[in-house]
Amino acid sequence: MKKLICLIASSLVLTVQANAQLKCGADQVFNQLKKNYPEINVTEANLSLAIQEAIEKEKTSGTILGKTTATTYDVPIVVHIIHDYGAEYISDDDIFNAVKYWDVVFNKENADTINVIAPFKRYIGNPQIRLHLATIDPSGNPTKGITRRQSYLSVNGGDNAKMDGWPNNKYINIWFINKFDAKHSGAAAYAYYPAAGAALPYYDGIISLASYMGTDKTIPHELGHVLNLQHTWGNTNDPEVACGDDLVDDTPPTKGHASCGTAALYDTTCSRGYVKGSINYPDTNNTQNIMEYAFCSKMFTLGQASRMRAALTSTTAGRSNLISSTNLTTTGALQNRPDLQPIPDFSVERGIFNWGGKTTERTFFLCQNSSTIFQFQNRSWNDTVTNVAWSFSNTPASATSSLIVGNVSNSFKDAGWATITLTATGNNSGSKTINRQAIYVASTTPYSGGYNQYFTALSDFGDWPMFNYYNNNFKWEYNSSNGYPNGSGCVRYRSFDARTSPESLSGNPDGDYDDIFTPAFNCNTISGATGNINLNFYTAGCATGKTVYKDSLQIFASNTCGDSWTRIGVLSYADIINNGILNTEFAPTTASQWKAQTITVPASLRSDKTFFRFRYWPSTGGNNLYFDNFTLSPWTTEIKEVAQNASEVKIFPNPSNGDTKLYFTTGNQPATNLVIRDVTGKTIFAQSKVYPSNTFIQEDIQRSIFPSSGIYLISIINSEHSHTKKLVIE
Ligand SMILES: [Zn+2]
Repeated sequence: MKKLICLIASSLVLTVQANAQLKCGADQVFNQLKKNYPEINVTEANLSLAIQEAIEKEKTSGTILGKTTATTYDVPIVVHIIHDYGAEYISDDDIFNAVKYWDVVFNKENADTINVIAPFKRYIGNPQIRLHLATIDPSGNPTKGITRRQSYLSVNGGDNAKMDGWPNNKYINIWFINKFDAKHSGAAAYAYYPAAGAALPYYDGIISLASYMGTDKTIPHELGHVLNLQHTWGNTNDPEVACGDDLVDDTPPTKGHASCGTAALYDTTCSRGYVKGSINYPDTNNTQNIMEYAFCSKMFTLGQASRMRAALTSTTAGRSNLISSTNLTTTGALQNRPDLQPIPDFSVERGIFNWGGKTTERTFFLCQNSSTIFQFQNRSWNDTVTNVAWSFSNTPASATSSLIVGNVSNSFKDAGWATITLTATGNNSGSKTINRQAIYVASTTPYSGGYNQYFTALSDFGDWPMFNYYNNNFKWEYNSSNGYPNGSGCVRYRSFDARTSPESLSGNPDGDYDDIFTPAFNCNTISGATGNINLNFYTAGCATGKTVYKDSLQIFASNTCGDSWTRIGVLSYADIINNGILNTEFAPTTASQWKAQTITVPASLRSDKTFFRFRYWPSTGGNNLYFDNFTLSPWTTEIKEVAQNASEVKIFPNPSNGDTKLYFTTGNQPATNLVIRDVTGKTIFAQSKVYPSNTFIQEDIQRSIFPSSGIYLISIINSEHSHTKKLVIE
């Protein structure tokens, strides 16, 4: 009974381990690349020959590389953290420790080789390859061999997430992200074989989920691919399909394994009676090989070690330059890690409600003196940070902090942009400070009545904050010369992808988004007789012929001072692409290139302080979207335009110091509203009547309905048209 329980327990553990192992995408990517870049096949064949030659030469000269006291090869590497301040924001120390372990594996110093099964004990290879985080970057500056970049591509990773790459003939690039894109979903990591790296040097290297950085042999496995090792069953995607070979003598043919039970460890399916040359190799599969999927990886073989070392002597993809003494000097690979100043950094976190809960999104925008507060987190790196000092502009007095770990909270009293200052002090390397206008504090004084914003000058954006969250080329910006109707100022979202070559990785906007916020409006003073409140604006949009165009503009409203946002409308690509396709940067020049848009504000979101947020999602095929003539009114954009051109409504006398006469002709729709508003948009009189169709009407407007002298707007509205006239009461 006791034994049975034990067995069940151990098989449970194995199941969990098997599930934890995700696929390596190296071959999937490689095979796709070979289709797109056929020259890779030639490079691969040539490299294969060269490697075979090198290995044969070693054999005939009586030594087998990796087994003897061969020269140690030193290789500079660089780790790039592509993050969005999530779990993938791995600390420097964890990176140093991970690299140390990979290096252990590449020198056969990993303790778990003791568990290699008997048939393979004598075949454990020592690649004798030392991995060094570079201490000099490509510009000649001291570095710890780590870069960090905040990007939306951290959760949509693939080749495009390989930002800030260093030359592949000088460093092995290893990128870490949070999540792969759909094309690579299911993969834990993938790497470029040298033949692929030669064709696309800017993508050469390894990209991996950050959660796999410290996971046993994931990165050593990928480094195996970088040094031209195949999976033990050959270079196909999946194990357990067909017997295959990897061109290495002492890894017997195998189907490969996705789990690591006893059956897998002692599997002989493809390797019974396996002899290569004159050597009788084990008849067992090498399931514990690092180039397996079985998740009990413990070893490279002697042959694999030779093969990797041979790849480092080949010029393909600049691999031989990696280990050259010149390069080791250039990259500072053999120098001690320098003591550098910290790089101060912080993230804006989700806000915290007065009851303790958190906002649904990171809080960059809140009302002044809000009971919900902004939160920030210290993300300084590049040194052991011993001290930090936070300070904030625009706060209640004495709002400072020295918190190194955890969230620093604060509220802000004045409307406008707030600056956060963070000074990070390192251990014996001094301190460094950043100032960043990271958040916007909105005024709680709303606009009342109707509202127009034509964006004629940059100063109009004082209470329309724009956020470029990922600090890139895709962003909201003021445009001084392409506005509606023809040439005034406007705001545009720059979605045009200026990338002209794949190595300029500022491209690929898929996954990016940016916001522009409105000031607060008192909706109670707007709706008037129609009962509606509409966001009206004009857009001018266009696509490029590049790929599938799927830009969209989402409109949100908040009646909670930015605590929460409700989506009230989406303009999909079909709604905003009204100027076809243009492969150069789009800019409208005539009124006819603009399209009127209307979003009705739901009653539930109307308040005495309602904000709106426009969130743009660019895409690979996008071109610029222009946005102008924002109005908040009871009417929709189109009707207002008809009214501006109307001459059918007449008022007499005007100016008037007594009663006034109003003349108009009804149309086919006899139900008509008469609405009178003051200049702030406030309705002072509203009347609904059913008149005879197509009839000339005369109405008397009593002086007594006007509270004071001044300018008033008289509107005649039916379901087809709205006409507005100005009346001056003396
Ligand atoms: Zn692999």
